[in-house]
Amino acid sequence: MSRSAVVWDPALLAYDLGGEHPFNPIRLDLAIRLATALGVLDDVPVLAPEAADEEALYRAHTAEYVSAVKQAPMASWQVGHGLGTEDNPIFSGMHEAGALVVGSTLLGARRIAEGRADRAVNIAGGLHHAMSDHASGFCVYNDCSVAISWLLDNGFDRIAYVDTDVHHGDGVQAAFYGDRRVLTVSLHQHPFTLFPGTGYSAETGVEAAEGYAVNVPLPPRTKDAGWLRAFDAVVPSLLAEFRPQLLVTQCGVDSHDEDPLADLSLTVDGHRTIYATLRELAKTYADGKWLAVGGGGYQLIRVVPRSWTHLLATVLDRDIDPVTPLPASWSDHVRGLAPHAELPLAMTDGGDTGFSSWGDGLDDAVDAAIRDTRRAVFPLHGLDPDDPRD
Ligand SMILES: [Zn+2]
Repeated sequence: MSRSAVVWDPALLAYDLGGEHPFNPIRLDLAIRLATALGVLDDVPVLAPEAADEEALYRAHTAEYVSAVKQAPMASWQVGHGLGTEDNPIFSGMHEAGALVVGSTLLGARRIAEGRADRAVNIAGGLHHAMSDHASGFCVYNDCSVAISWLLDNGFDRIAYVDTDVHHGDGVQAAFYGDRRVLTVSLHQHPFTLFPGTGYSAETGVEAAEGYAVNVPLPPRTKDAGWLRAFDAVVPSLLAEFRPQLLVTQCGVDSHDEDPLADLSLTVDGHRTIYATLRELAKTYADGKWLAVGGGGYQLIRVVPRSWTHLLATVLDRDIDPVTPLPASWSDHVRGLAPHAELPLAMTDGGDTGFSSWGDGLDDAVDAAIRDTRRAVFPLHGLDPDDPRD
């Protein structure tokens, strides 16, 4: 039997920022429908979450902020805290919907901490921009930070957080910037060119935690091969030194070439390779323990459903052959919603996921980013930044 837990409940679709906002919950619905149509979830007991209580939210957020979120839909005044902006509009039930997202990631974390699962996945999670006292980047409450904080109090004292969203995982980095029990690693599009404008390689943590925040800012238009080369040049070496007891990964898919909000150029095949790599790293360095959450991803029809179906399949050891055609039942459903959308035909973009290792003679902008990151943090872990064997 699989030792993997899938957390999902249609109630999570209530996290709906409304109108034309890009963070449309249909992306989750279409992903679960596609995974179901392909049989990925057959015989898998899907765990329904409960909303996180306020004590849990206080792990990552101030009481003042939680109170503002609760009051926001009724307030006739400006509530502040980043709420009521274009990115973070106020919506009815936003506290309850945000708390349910947190509860769903916490449920996955609990299953692992209790020894009832080695892996857990919650595609509704990954709200990595939320800060302790304000909403940011479509994120109200930071499920990643709450879950990591809870794990630190429940048997774990070395947790690696790896963020593969196209945006910097700034909220999680901020939450643990001075805490060497949590290694945060984020690969993202360069902050010069994208929200939230942080995530430089020089951001490495403070005081005793220096070296425990790791950032790899990648140039726009980086493709699968460059992304995977950067990951391979930075992440495995650090995990080997850090020896995490658990890998927490934010698996945003807005790094895709067709994503409307950002400019990296990965494919669905690249995403599939990333998930397989994360699974291997969890096995090799984290005793097989892996908590995976979703994140960004705004190509709602052509990208998110396929990439997160690959994520669910990877967590469940039910890997899907990329050439697998999309089931007619799923395509018919989507055509009913969006008659003019150009639908993908298979679980692949035909992307080339082969890459050359760093240090093999290439020297482009990705290699410069790799060098900067390695030089910023590798010496703090006793690693040689200029030796490709480290
Ligand atoms: Zn993102």
